[in-house]
Amino acid sequence: MDDCLFCKIAAGELGGPLIYEDEQVVAFDDISPQAPVHVLIIPRAHYTNLNDEPPAELLSHILQVARKIAQMRGIDQSGYRVVQNNGPDAGQTVFHLHFHVIGGRTLAVGMA
Ligand code: 5GP
Ligand code: ZN
Repeated sequence: MDDCLFCKIAAGELGGPLIYEDEQVVAFDDISPQAPVHVLIIPRAHYTNLNDEPPAELLSHILQVARKIAQMRGIDQSGYRVVQNNGPDAGQTVFHLHFHVIGGRTLAVGMA
């Protein structure tokens, strides 16, 4: 999609190094990390958020990649959170579907 920051990162046109990539997704460190580990996983294809009905197979794959990244970063046993925001009230600021993998410290408890 034209003028989408994360489409450009997925295409390798912008951004720093990818820490993971396959046919469906890429992952990279968040530019403004909220914890010692803060990775974003995005599909190569553009979906604004869950409202665009990304296929279940893709969503399942992203969760598997989240687990792999937690293992790569050594936080799978200490614990990590997978966060995905939909729309302004949820705090979505980049309108290309993305999943945060956050960990490396004790995270605050709570959903809101
Ligand atoms: P949201 O608030 O939409 O769920 O999360 C968007 C995330 O993208 C934020 O955590 C923000 O720091 C990150 N972000 C925004 N622009 C860039 C960028 O250009 N590069 C990287 N690596 N992360 C970005
Ligand atoms: Zn996009």
